Amino acid sequence: MAEIPRYARQTILPEVGREGQARLAEATVAVMGCGALGSVAATILARSGVGHLRLIDRDVVELHNLQRQVLYNEDDAARGVPKAAAAAERLQAVNGSIEVLPFVADVDHRNIEDLLVGCDVVVDAVDNFESRYLLNDAAVKHGIPWVYGGVIGVGGVSMPILPGDGPCFRCLFPSDPGPGAVETCDTAGILSTIVHIVSAFQATEALKLAMGRRDEVRRELLEIDAWSGESVLLRIHRREDCPVCVGRRFEHLEGERGSSATHMCGRDAVQIRPKTPAKLDLPDLAERLKAVGSVNCHPMLVRLEVEGYQLSIFADGRAIVHGAGDETVARAIYARYVGL
Ligand SMILES: [Zn+2]
Repeated sequence: MAEIPRYARQTILPEVGREGQARLAEATVAVMGCGALGSVAATILARSGVGHLRLIDRDVVELHNLQRQVLYNEDDAARGVPKAAAAAERLQAVNGSIEVLPFVADVDHRNIEDLLVGCDVVVDAVDNFESRYLLNDAAVKHGIPWVYGGVIGVGGVSMPILPGDGPCFRCLFPSDPGPGAVETCDTAGILSTIVHIVSAFQATEALKLAMGRRDEVRRELLEIDAWSGESVLLRIHRREDCPVCVGRRFEHLEGERGSSATHMCGRDAVQIRPKTPAKLDLPDLAERLKAVGSVNCHPMLVRLEVEGYQLSIFADGRAIVHGAGDETVARAIYARYVGL
């Protein structure tokens, strides 16, 4: 086989070698979410020579993304271009010898299998639990390995999920914390360095899997704090009663779980209703949202004005997003500020 100068610094590594490089060229990897984690992971994978990349995202570029989403620029934000499209264009220019396909899509139970089937590995770069449960269902059902990653504040976590071999995401988080129960990066903030750290760990495991080096994949949950530099590896066990990897019941994939969005007739508003009703602590939510916009807390609801939208959030997790013309935008706004 002829030497490939482009990847010389990588093929010389005993961990990769020419064989590993050839496997990468044949591999298909999906990056689900092209925000902060997705920007970094997709860049690493494209430059490393992964032959087929699928970039999936529902959102458009905004100015406040640029602090940490390294694939985008001010022009993208001014034009509001879809992240998946901008990312694919940029990475195709970085490496013309690979195939980079953008999918501008709001991933749900109807389309996720089409988007992911045929992939050797999926990198999780989404920003909410609902999407991860959906990804976990699809991945376990089809036996596709994926790499969980999450960042918030100055800390982050990552764990590879190998279907049929060890715990799945539902073993790690048996129940959804529910809307409004956890901070989102829009309410708690995010340090850009933790994005690079967690994403680099995710990409490392994804490269191993794409090269067929499954036996070398790290099995533990990594928790890391970018500010203190402290990290810990935790061994997670498979749960005997896990409905997904043990019971093979895929509730999220069948649309039995997860939120629903309804466009409200005659109004420029969309109602978001979580499938499992939440019990929100409204004063607590109001306090947290004060960091991002103008907030009014009533006994029955919290009103938030942010980015030109008005959200009315009720104690059961239901919300009406005013000013959102379609359901995809409303879901994104809800996920950003209330969390799923
Ligand atoms: Zn499980």
